[in-house]
Parts: sequence; C-alpha cells; structure tokens
Amino acid sequence: MAQTPQGKPLPQITDQTRPFWSAAKQRKLVMQKCDRCGTLNFYPKPWCVECGNRGLDWVEVKPYGTIYSLTTAYAVMMNYPDWKDDLPVIMCIIDLDDGARMYGQLTDCAPDKAHIGMRVQAHFVDISEEAAIPKFRPA
Ligand SMILES: [Zn+2]
Repeated sequence: MAQTPQGKPLPQITDQTRPFWSAAKQRKLVMQKCDRCGTLNFYPKPWCVECGNRGLDWVEVKPYGTIYSLTTAYAVMMNYPDWKDDLPVIMCIIDLDDGARMYGQLTDCAPDKAHIGMRVQAHFVDISEEAAIPKFRPA
C-alpha cells in the first residue's frame, strides 16, 4: 500500500473519492448531496444513503461540527509503526453543522479534554501532491 511521507497508509483515491481529497487539498470540506432528497453522503458512494438516487452533486459544507462519539487509541494502528509518534490518537464521529455525520481525527486536544458534545472545526493536513485529509480541532 502506498504511504505518506510520514509513513502512514495513503487512501486509495478513485474517481468516486477524488473530489473529496482534491477539495481537502484546497482547504475545503465537500460532500455529495443528493439532487432528489438533499441528503449529504459521507463517505462518497455511487448512490444516496437515504433514497438510493444516483444523482449526487459535490457541494462545500461548513467545516464545523459537534462530536457525537469518540475513542482514543493508545497503541499503534493498522500495524504502521509510524503512527507511534502521534499517540494517543483521538478518533471521532462528528455531526457537521450542515447535517452529515463523518469520522475524523481530533488534534490539538488532550484525550481527557475531548468529550461528546465538543464543538470542533476542520483543518487540513497534506498527505500527497494531490490530497489532504480533513482533521478536527476544538473550535
Ligand atoms: Zn436522496
């Protein structure tokens, strides 16, 4: 599997997911929006998660949300030792203000300070020439 300069696995970027990664590179958070029912999809899929419609448009969403759930990893993930320098890693499920629910890493926050209901804001970390990954920090 391809790796970042930091030695972590790179996402497999496909035609379906490229707009998400490319927008993140430009410091924008985008999602697919159903042109029939208006539901936002995360993660990218060929159809609407709510109604199955295949008419999806990429739209920019506000990079703010609230932590719905979280967990903290104190051990190396996915057998990639290069995660070691990042530990502990806080992973969250976030309810974005625009209505979608997505997962992401919480940074710039001690594990004992992170909590359900915490307001967070996206920021973007470059992982390759063509992609960045959205992460979150306390808002
Ligand atoms: Zn729909």
